Amino acid sequence: MDAHEGSEHGENVLDLSRLDLDKLNVETVSEERRKETRVLYLTFNRLVVLPASISLFSSLEFLDVSSNGLAVVCEDITRLRRLKTLIAKNNRLDECSLPKELGSMRIEVLNLSGNRFEEVPAQCLKLQRLRSLSLGGNRLKTIPAEIENLRSLETLYLGGNHIGDIPLELANLPNLSYLVLCDNRIQSIPPQLTRLHSLRSLSLHNNLLTYLPREILSLVRLQELSLRGNPLVVRFVKDMTYDPPSLLELAGRAIKSKNLPYSLFDLPANLVRYLDMASKCPNPKCAGVYFDSCVRHIKFVDFCGKYRLPLMHYLCSPECSSPCSSNPQSDADSEDESSVPADRLQRVLLG
Ligand SMILES: [Zn+2]
Repeated sequence: MDAHEGSEHGENVLDLSRLDLDKLNVETVSEERRKETRVLYLTFNRLVVLPASISLFSSLEFLDVSSNGLAVVCEDITRLRRLKTLIAKNNRLDECSLPKELGSMRIEVLNLSGNRFEEVPAQCLKLQRLRSLSLGGNRLKTIPAEIENLRSLETLYLGGNHIGDIPLELANLPNLSYLVLCDNRIQSIPPQLTRLHSLRSLSLHNNLLTYLPREILSLVRLQELSLRGNPLVVRFVKDMTYDPPSLLELAGRAIKSKNLPYSLFDLPANLVRYLDMASKCPNPKCAGVYFDSCVRHIKFVDFCGKYRLPLMHYLCSPECSSPCSSNPQSDADSEDESSVPADRLQRVLLG
């Protein structure tokens, strides 16, 4: 086979793309050349199986086998101990296609977008060095809780699947900076996602979101949030389902809002713990607190003076929202709008 060895490529790059290959005849590449190849392109061929001979490229760091109709990746790929980047986009890979020991590799960038995965392959969830995982355009219905094992993950691309829910464990990825969940079927964002302190970009366009959790305001690094194509509520939602507070809660509310002193000398430990769990009512005109009994409430908040985002709040009682609940426009003097710096979300893409 003829390798394209353009002058822009060094000796370490071997480009075997678009050669109509249906098998990998490594004999046509000298042993010396095989050993010095660090970057190998095999894209746009007809390789249905990535064969064992791939392991003869023993110095390989980057392998792109995209657009082949690939259905099987042989176990021998795991012998490529230097491989850091594996790109296998637009093939026919599914849960049965990958080697069992893939998880023991030192891969940092893995792109399996445009394949037939219905689940995130279990092997991928063991790649301790993985920084970037792309599984866009597959058939995923869920994100497994084990995603939290990928402690080094910085970029997670899951756009264009059938995902309905975001697991809380996703919030346990300390380095996650880019999270793409666009073009799925997500109906709500767990407030715990605000633990993603490194998050800079969050793509949520073309989902089924009707509101965002208020806590999203605390994602201080977030620079880009895309929301277009969601049925975000455009009118104030009067959702006044409210279970009356228990006597315990009423007593707790009185103690907290009157600032009565209490300590472990006065009260049993479980009551002290309970009192310490009080949440402050987000209505700036209310000094109240709540415990378990609160009112779900959607409030519009201005970003960049341009967009009004529906955010989820919990208020201490139905009365708290009554002065302004009928008209979002009359809500303009609220605490949120003055307390959210305009530069916090630099780009909110709703249009
Ligand atoms: Zn209140």
